[in-house]
Amino acid sequence: MIYSYTQISQYLRCPRSYRYRYLDGWQEKDTRAAMVFGRCFEKALGAYFRKEDCAGALFKEWGAFRDVPFAYRKGESWDRLMHQGVHLLERFVQDDRVHIQEPEQNLQRKISRPLPDGNEFVSYIDAIGEVDGKHCLIDWKTTTSRYSEDPEGLLSLDPQLICYSWISGISDVAFVVFVRKSLSEIQYLKATISEEQRREFGHLVESTIGQIESGQFSSHSGIRFPQNGCVSCSHLGLCLNKQQLIDTNLIRRPGASALDWLDELVD
Ligand code: SF4
Repeated sequence: MIYSYTQISQYLRCPRSYRYRYLDGWQEKDTRAAMVFGRCFEKALGAYFRKEDCAGALFKEWGAFRDVPFAYRKGESWDRLMHQGVHLLERFVQDDRVHIQEPEQNLQRKISRPLPDGNEFVSYIDAIGEVDGKHCLIDWKTTTSRYSEDPEGLLSLDPQLICYSWISGISDVAFVVFVRKSLSEIQYLKATISEEQRREFGHLVESTIGQIESGQFSSHSGIRFPQNGCVSCSHLGLCLNKQQLIDTNLIRRPGASALDWLDELVD
């Protein structure tokens, strides 16, 4: 069995949701414009590091979705996202704070790690390069709101970065956050993950897989406002037995998707 960060985090968020997704095959439909745009934007970043026309690459990638009836958020549209994306790329080029040597090898780098009982853990690291001259592992984010920077050191607790540090063995990590708002902004957030954090994460992966393999899929509904995870859970229709919600949000496919890691692009 191959495990990913998305699978482990989904199980930890709600084991029932994990069962719906990975055992029963209920996957969220690709109707979220922001997620698809994030993938296109990442391809445009790849073009930039390969010294190609990145704005042209964004137009080509995002252009393929121009007539798709996405569920856009209020105030968003295909044109607006395109406009914001070009501004962010211009800003990124001007900043010139990130450098990637040999982009063919160091972008979307697949790293796998064997686990006990023949299992395997796989991650796709967005980039390995330099931010402000420091060698680090990099994860791109496109979002509509800034990431919190207070208190200092908060980023070192981010589970996705800890996971990537664990699988790669690289201590220095960074989020490069492309904030889509009226005045575009890019955050370069850096952190260092300790050996102890990596070791703890390894234990967490093994204990989580143990629970999955022993068939523990109880629900963690999180009923309290404002931390009610059910509200944003794509499987809510299944738990509430509401066919309309199921039809709107889900599609049933057998097994886990080979493109499961793409979900990591979602904020
Ligand atoms: S709706 Fe709530 S209880 Fe049901 S799968 Fe989602 S998070 Fe779990």
